[in-house]
Amino acid sequence: MKIKVEESWCVASGSCVLAAPKVFDQDENGVVILLQDRPAPELHASVRTAASVCPSAVISIEED
Ligand code: SF4
Repeated sequence: MKIKVEESWCVASGSCVLAAPKVFDQDENGVVILLQDRPAPELHASVRTAASVCPSAVISIEED
């Protein structure tokens, strides 16, 4: 799995951080920060959840 984020689309909802706090954080303005772009397999389900709950389709996932 490889994750990409389009920060310019982020509306700072924080939903991704709630779903996958080891993979996503937010800066002082609430904009998403990608902590790791190739998460370990045990995190994949939470990353998929984060992508699905993001209201602005910021998070894209490439499966290996
Ligand atoms: S869920 Fe989407 S819009 Fe909300 S902070 Fe995360 S990337 Fe940004």
